[in-house]
Amino acid sequence: MDLDTPIEEIPRISAVYQKRLRRLEIFTLKDLLFHFPYRYEDFSKITPIAQTKINEEVCIKGKILKIKIRRTPVKKIFLVEAILQDESGTIKAMWFNQPYLIKTLKQNDLVCLAGKVTLEGKSAYLSNPVYERIGKTESIHTGRLVPVYPETAGLSSRWLRYILRPILINFRDKIPEILPLEILKKEKLLSINRAIWQVHFPDSKKLAGAARDRFSFEKLFLIELFVLKEKIRAYKLSGHAISINLDLIKEFVASLPFKLTNSQKKASWRILKDLEKKRPMSRLLQGDVGSGKTVVATMAALNIAKAGFQVALMAPTEILAKQHFAKFSQMLKDFDLEIGLLTGKQGKLFFGKMGEASEIPKKKFLEEAEAGRIKILIGTHALIQESVRFNNLALIILDEQHRFGVDQRAKLAQKSETSQKQSLIPHFLSMTATPIPRTLALTLYGDLDLSLIDEMPKGRKKVITKVVAPADRGKSYNFIREKVKEGRQVFVICPRIEPKANDENIFKTERALSWAEVKAAKAEYEKLSSQIFPDLKIGLLHGKMKVEEKEKQMNDFKDKKTDVLVSTSVVEVGIDIPNATVMMIEGAERFGLAQLHQFRGRVGRSEYQSYCLLFTDSPARNTHQRLKALIDCENGFELAEKDLKIRGAGDFFGRRQWGIPDLAMSGLKDILLVERTREAAKEILSEDPNFKKYPLLKEELKKFGEKIHLE
Ligand code: ADP
Ligand code: MG
Repeated sequence: MDLDTPIEEIPRISAVYQKRLRRLEIFTLKDLLFHFPYRYEDFSKITPIAQTKINEEVCIKGKILKIKIRRTPVKKIFLVEAILQDESGTIKAMWFNQPYLIKTLKQNDLVCLAGKVTLEGKSAYLSNPVYERIGKTESIHTGRLVPVYPETAGLSSRWLRYILRPILINFRDKIPEILPLEILKKEKLLSINRAIWQVHFPDSKKLAGAARDRFSFEKLFLIELFVLKEKIRAYKLSGHAISINLDLIKEFVASLPFKLTNSQKKASWRILKDLEKKRPMSRLLQGDVGSGKTVVATMAALNIAKAGFQVALMAPTEILAKQHFAKFSQMLKDFDLEIGLLTGKQGKLFFGKMGEASEIPKKKFLEEAEAGRIKILIGTHALIQESVRFNNLALIILDEQHRFGVDQRAKLAQKSETSQKQSLIPHFLSMTATPIPRTLALTLYGDLDLSLIDEMPKGRKKVITKVVAPADRGKSYNFIREKVKEGRQVFVICPRIEPKANDENIFKTERALSWAEVKAAKAEYEKLSSQIFPDLKIGLLHGKMKVEEKEKQMNDFKDKKTDVLVSTSVVEVGIDIPNATVMMIEGAERFGLAQLHQFRGRVGRSEYQSYCLLFTDSPARNTHQRLKALIDCENGFELAEKDLKIRGAGDFFGRRQWGIPDLAMSGLKDILLVERTREAAKEILSEDPNFKKYPLLKEELKKFGEKIHLE
């Protein structure tokens, strides 16, 4: 057996269990070894029976005096009852619905039992304790720190321990080390073999932590290497150097119905300067919702298009692509440019010129694009993945960058290398309203230069944020009705359905979750339209709707045909409806602060006073503290830093979205760790950029690069 041995060839794993393992995405022996516990049950201390206390988790060791099985009189469930004795006394243990135990555990057996002491009437008993016979082999289920794994139906932690233990013994000292020895030494990290052992069967909490640290380090180190390599690669590329057309830019700025903020000016200038260089730009433009990123992108696009080159602008959804198309057409209407909108799924196509849009067949669109006649192409990322060919693409703009990962950018660059006649690499600008804390940005976007718009256009009113307790619901509903009577509109965001707290295998149930969300949104819609606001027009928007349906809902809202739009978190991204002035969020405690801030940014876009109402039924004190942070703070970046500390990095990107291992995600919380891994990666790359000395690391990095992916 080696690390690549498929689970089908591992002894003791039956076909049924193979299937269950596959459900956890465990296919090889290595996957199994790297299926880490997410916590440990501390059964390391043996408590004398006489000292056990009610409601305490204890581990006791003794002899089974008696054991019997019976059925409960009413519910007729099997009950196995045992009396356990040690030197200090006796205690009863009861197992519900596990009749097979009568065959496993026998009178006079020496056992360890671990579980909670429960009181019923006057007698105390251990309820459903973990059991383990004390024999010749070392105990793995009791009497120690016991690993608890992410589980799936029919596959318990107990079974995993039983399977893993012999494998670990077999592989003791045989797992190849991928981290360079110098790094292990310098960073005082456990070797891989020690770490693997200690992560599963730790000798102490400290060692369990050290094992985890080692793997966090390893994963972050791989990310850093990947990103830095990408950066080095990018430095060697050449792109189109396109000089700034100052007159054109001045004309554009003068044509705007508003004055640019200083931040916008600065960011625009940096970008235009970048475009003048031969080295392709790789820049991330960050700015809160509503800070005006689009106009900055438009300016860059205009400069490029007027120089005779092409620009591709990609948005994460079709709704947003259409919104951009409308805005670009509007802002550039006097500049005599051909702007195209390609909506992949529908195979529909519009063609805009001088502010007028007309449909042309997709085939014709593709011809026009390849001939270079369409100067600015707008669409979803299907734009670059599909069969679109360009004549001379010089700039790619991605909106809402956080939906795209490092590898996606690498693929984009590759694609653009092959999708046109010349080999020059387009400049690359991505935009995001998701405030990304510095550590994250440095790590995950380490290959990008950063620009920040940290200033809002003048005249925006502060959004009034309030936490609404259950008792005040009625008042808030009245308030909302009043606002609608005044002519305003309202967003209602439905609660996110949270998986069970200890279920780390969320990615497998992602589908189920989004359906649950849809159900919640429908229920909210029903409730609001039939009970709360029967007099108002309510719309519904959720992720499982067809594109056309979604668009109809959005348009109805835009055209004020509906007063209230009930939605799952899909409105989070980019939608611009100035007349909406109330954002009501149900189950506010279930969202991250940064995400709540994003929702809040959907309102407050006009001269009317706007409100953000946070509904929560959670009485927990920390919920209120967290939500209070949102009231006190209007800066997305500060909120994001807070979120990162409180909830970890997973929230920023959606779990598993990038295939970035959980351990790396949790490691990202730790600024020092991020910096250490970054330094280590830099050192290796400067000494041995092609990993001649570290073939294993090279291979791992390659695999890692293939694995990190997008939704
Ligand atoms: P985001 O950064 O969230 O993408 P947008 O680019 O959609 O924001 O801009 C939000 C709104 O603000 C748009 O309606 C836009 O026309 C307007 N806007 C942008 N810049 C300014 C400015 N300097 N002054 C006033 N309004 C502006
Ligand atoms: Mg935007």
